[in-house]
Amino acid sequence: MEITEIPVEGYEKVVRAKDPESGLHAIIAIHDTTLGPALGGMRMWPYASEEEALTDVLRLAKGMTYKSAVAHTGLGGGKSVIIGDPNEKSEALFLAMGRFVDSLGGRYITAEDVNTTIPDLQIVHRETAHVTGLARSEGSSGNPSPYTAHGVVLGIEACVERVFGSKDLKGRKVAILGVGAVGSVVARSLRTKGAEVWAHDMREDRVVVLHEETGVRLASEEEVLTMDADVFTPCALGGVLNDETIPNLRCRIVAGAANNQLLEDRHGDMLRERNILYAPDYVINAGGIINVAVELLPGGYREEESYARIDRIPKALHEVFDLAEEQGLSTARAADMLAERILAAGRS
Ligand code: NAD
Repeated sequence: MEITEIPVEGYEKVVRAKDPESGLHAIIAIHDTTLGPALGGMRMWPYASEEEALTDVLRLAKGMTYKSAVAHTGLGGGKSVIIGDPNEKSEALFLAMGRFVDSLGGRYITAEDVNTTIPDLQIVHRETAHVTGLARSEGSSGNPSPYTAHGVVLGIEACVERVFGSKDLKGRKVAILGVGAVGSVVARSLRTKGAEVWAHDMREDRVVVLHEETGVRLASEEEVLTMDADVFTPCALGGVLNDETIPNLRCRIVAGAANNQLLEDRHGDMLRERNILYAPDYVINAGGIINVAVELLPGGYREEESYARIDRIPKALHEVFDLAEEQGLSTARAADMLAERILAAGRS
């Protein structure tokens, strides 16, 4: 395997691996380890070029640094990408990836991400100890989605409290886009807390199940994006807050699990101008990474510890909202500022 360093300003280490035998072509980016080893998922994607893969891995690694800083996980930020078709996975590929991860000696710790699964990571784990988020039966932290969902619900309550003066969700109207692993758990929990919930998913069967079991109402995509709800909760893909959707939003709050909800940073400013409170995605959806980080504590994974740490998400959000008000900034920019302050304090 040929491992080559790619110098990138502002990043601690970026390396490329090419292994003709297994067909592995991958990049690992370590953005910042000031606060601890760099943890971030392993994505597999058929990127059109190495340049495209590099752009993606750099953006994602930096995002992990900020997310972990604000969530106080004691971790830094990193990410890895395998350039390839997820339909063409092989054992040899993931074994080679395991050796690549191991070559960084624990400065980068990997986890599941888009198009990689626990069975893939179990193969990676045969070559390196630096893998998290494996099965609970293996002493690992397991599926992060319920923990992410728990944090999102706490975050929605914090936003409701901020806007309406009480965090009580009884009778509050929430519109959810995407009811997969995270969104479905959020929907159920909101219903238990007495909220009225509308949901849309391109997999309509997923909404139908929630309708039958918990009374969630079916809605079109346009309805969830434009309805007069208290909260809009994006739990599908990124980029949902953009020039087309923001002018039509009629909610008071945007708070959901999806990563990279703002298409561009300026869309956070647009939300602020429209007086819509936005819970920065990486702050409200940190439950999963918090849960994984507990696995790395001395003594190993403990669920109570994970919940205790996730319970601090509302505090982090209020800190961001206070900073945004004080600085006259969007909440998204305030979250980045808070992350940079925490990193600066860590450096000194
Ligand atoms: P998932 O794939 O289980 O669920 C996503 C759901 O959104 C699916 O039901 C899918 O059908 C639906 N969907 C996708 N595109 C859609 C569209 N254009 N219109 C309507 N529905 C659409 O994923 P998940 O694990 O629930 O994650 C949801 C989001 O939260 C993602 O953005 C993910 O990156 C983010 N996130 C997840 C976690 C976690 O712990 N799983 C942690 C942090 C962030």
